Amino acid sequence: MLEKDPVCGKDVDTEKAIVIFKMGDRYRYFCSEECARIFQKTKLGL
Ligand SMILES: [Zn+2]
Repeated sequence: MLEKDPVCGKDVDTEKAIVIFKMGDRYRYFCSEECARIFQKTKLGL
C-alpha cells in the first residue's frame, strides 16, 4: 500500500517506510529520517 510522505510528497510503500509515526489513530509514513525530522520540527499535517 502507498501513502504520501507529508514532507516531500513522495509515495511511500507502507511496508518499506523508513520511519513511521503514529499520530492519534493515524499513521504517517516517511521516505527518510530527514523527512521525519523535518516533520517533527514543523509539525506539518497537524
Ligand atoms: Zn520524504
